Amino acid sequence: MEIFHDPNALCLSIVKAAKELDFQRVRTLMSVETDKGLCPLLQISRKTDPGFPRILLSAGIHGDEPAGPHAVLELLRSEIGNPGFSNLINLTSFPLINPSGFLNKTRTNREEIDLNREFAKGHPSPEIRCLMDVLRNRTFELSIEFHEDVDTKGFYLYEHFPDHKEPIGPEVISALEGSGFPILKDPVIEGMPAHNGIIHPRRMRRVKFRRHGWPEALYLYRHGTRRTFTLETPALIDFSSRVQMHVLAFRTIVSTVVKEHQSR
Ligand SMILES: [Zn+2]
Repeated sequence: MEIFHDPNALCLSIVKAAKELDFQRVRTLMSVETDKGLCPLLQISRKTDPGFPRILLSAGIHGDEPAGPHAVLELLRSEIGNPGFSNLINLTSFPLINPSGFLNKTRTNREEIDLNREFAKGHPSPEIRCLMDVLRNRTFELSIEFHEDVDTKGFYLYEHFPDHKEPIGPEVISALEGSGFPILKDPVIEGMPAHNGIIHPRRMRRVKFRRHGWPEALYLYRHGTRRTFTLETPALIDFSSRVQMHVLAFRTIVSTVVKEHQSR
């Protein structure tokens, strides 16, 4: 598998794939300064049918979690000539939110700011200002964020879901396990109670974010996106497996939601 270290080269490949898939919107929200010049902060969107689920896919908000942006590219490339999920949803994606951190392999951006704690601030970093401008008046049926945990050997996820819906997390875990990928089964993950690789963030919201800034998932939830997934691949295992874990988790979530829609 092709591994990118230069954020511009990765963005070029994402743009090329999105255009081949007839994404109607492929745009640069801003040019981000990196240690090797400017790099676009991309938004790509593909509308199919207004009745189909609206899904937001975000990746690369932490620069030292490279599997996420690569998984977005992998997902796009896998649809070229063989469209599946992309014809059944309305997709909006920010494939690489933190290009300066991606180049430097740092969690934070070049200004040493953790972009996933900047949402809902009065004066957030420019990258997050751009995202908030796009997201302010939009809700999605669900959002999926690709992250990585730098010191685990197993996959886990956070899932918010409304009371009247069934969780999808267990299906994601069983799909990954069925493909032989490792799951982190600790009863406590990141200081929060977990069960079979799933953290239920109702408890998380209360304890964690009052004093620090908001993460993207909480911002989306508070603005009406009731189902949010934060996927964490284990950075201590090989890169290609981590990319495939994101791809499989995304496909599992999307196919479950599409089935829900079709059975309405
Ligand atoms: Zn992260």
